[in-house]
Amino acid sequence: DFSNTAPKPASDGETKAAEDDDSENKAAQSLLNKLIRNNLVNTTNQVEVLQKDPNSPLYSVKSFEELRLKPQLLQGVYAMGFNRPSKIQETALPMMLAEPPQNLIAQSQSGTGKTAAFVLAMLSHVDPNNKFPQCLCVSPTYELALQTGKVIEQMGKYYPEVQLVYAIRGNKLQRGMKLQEQIVIGTPGTMLDWCSKFKFIDPKKIKVFVLDEADVMIATQGHQDQSIRIQRMLPKNCQMLLFSATFEESVWSFAQRIVPEPNIIKLKREEETLDTIKQYYVLCNSKEEKFEALCNIYGAITIAQAMIFCHTRKTAGWLAGELSREGHQVALLSGEMQVEQRAAVIERFRDGKEKVLVTTNVCARGIDVEQVSVVINFDLPVDKDGNPDNETYLHRIGRTGRFGKRGLAINMVDSRMSMNILNRIQEHFNKKIEKLNTDDLDEIE
Ligand code: ADP
Repeated sequence: DFSNTAPKPASDGETKAAEDDDSENKAAQSLLNKLIRNNLVNTTNQVEVLQKDPNSPLYSVKSFEELRLKPQLLQGVYAMGFNRPSKIQETALPMMLAEPPQNLIAQSQSGTGKTAAFVLAMLSHVDPNNKFPQCLCVSPTYELALQTGKVIEQMGKYYPEVQLVYAIRGNKLQRGMKLQEQIVIGTPGTMLDWCSKFKFIDPKKIKVFVLDEADVMIATQGHQDQSIRIQRMLPKNCQMLLFSATFEESVWSFAQRIVPEPNIIKLKREEETLDTIKQYYVLCNSKEEKFEALCNIYGAITIAQAMIFCHTRKTAGWLAGELSREGHQVALLSGEMQVEQRAAVIERFRDGKEKVLVTTNVCARGIDVEQVSVVINFDLPVDKDGNPDNETYLHRIGRTGRFGKRGLAINMVDSRMSMNILNRIQEHFNKKIEKLNTDDLDEIE
């Protein structure tokens, strides 16, 4: 049972329920982001490095060869299609692979190569001849643990002596047994039980401890304490590594409790711009008219992949239904779906099985849709007070830096109110949004 693997505290009030909701959303978003991405996020920003020992030389590598990896691992890296280390990997990898091992706290947005980096570090540090756990990796949810597990399997493809096991609720082992796998990946609660209550793992033999998605982790009640309790059982010379996509104060103080004497690497999020985007609006009088307009431009937008955003689940469901009735193949991503259902939809869309994805603002918030070149705002993004949500608008439509591909954004306007929102968005970004006549589509080619 996938949905029940993350330990959930008994809900004792609305705040708690809201918190749970929030943490589930964070974990779901993070998972969907991983699934929809098939590439590294390009970044022009430089990494910021704070060394534990500022006098020690700072190494950075431009190739995987320089790291003197085991040949089986280098082969695995190249088989994954990696040609050179990503920006964060350039500095993080030499640090993590140094002797003696160094502790690291690293922060960079999702898609910049953190997972690949710590997976490579884990695989490099295990001794396959020793048949007991040597690396522990904790993730916020079962699904996220599984994703990381897949990367370990891929990268370790030519290194089959190294074995992996999942410490997740539902994976029941016989009492008294000792694990033989070198790498254990799981959620904090089960990992803690396996180390202390059941003693399947001898924590004193652990060489590398990885805590992934620290920001998502601390959003779940109990995960913080469990992680700290695991960390306390580990030997002093165990390498501690912590990764996070964001770095607010709460994450930072947690990170410092998990990772003593850390080196710190930060990579600023790439700014998004509207510069490479053609923005249009379509003037309509009702939801039905918006639908008709959408049908008119359907052929033009499906040359590439398109995402259509609606304000409510109801509208999204209705629109997806109407489009299917017209004979169009569309996918629907909606908040009431289970995480694994949402994951399946995202994967089909990523693989191009559907050209169009209809979703709600809330459901898709935080999901990076770089590879989608057409974005339709069936409803304009507004905050809870009905004001324009500029940040969401930019994140949805904007592209990063000079690598950004050209894109197309079409906004559907159906009332004076939404025209007003559009005007305010236009003013905010100081970028013209052109009117599109859907009977004459030459403009959008
Ligand atoms: P993060 O953990 O920061 O979200 P990942 O390690 O999952 O990032 O990497 C994001 C994507 O980029 C994945 O599809 C991964 O396979 C790919 N990737 C990672 N490192 C490299 C690299 N050095 N070269 C090319 N692709 C990479």
